[in-house]
Amino acid sequence: MKQVSNIAQGWGKYFKGEVGALEKERAKECEQCPEAIVGTFERFMPDNSLKEIQGLKCNICKCPLSAKLRSKNESCPLGKW
Ligand code: SF4
Repeated sequence: MKQVSNIAQGWGKYFKGEVGALEKERAKECEQCPEAIVGTFERFMPDNSLKEIQGLKCNICKCPLSAKLRSKNESCPLGKW
């Protein structure tokens, strides 16, 4: 349940258009990761402030990256961030 709460928090930031240095650093890792895949739902969600991960989800935890990266309590399941 904690992860659901984290992702909801991340979507909240997404809708406010919030992005900082932390999110940008995380996006650099996900952008190059083979586990970042196009999501069925995610591909319809624009992400103008983190274009490098727009439309992607994590194939390990199945989380939408636009929300996961913006949640300070989330972490990469492969330990990349
Ligand atoms: S969260 Fe980690 S495993 Fe998932 S896509 Fe990003 S870097 Fe890859």
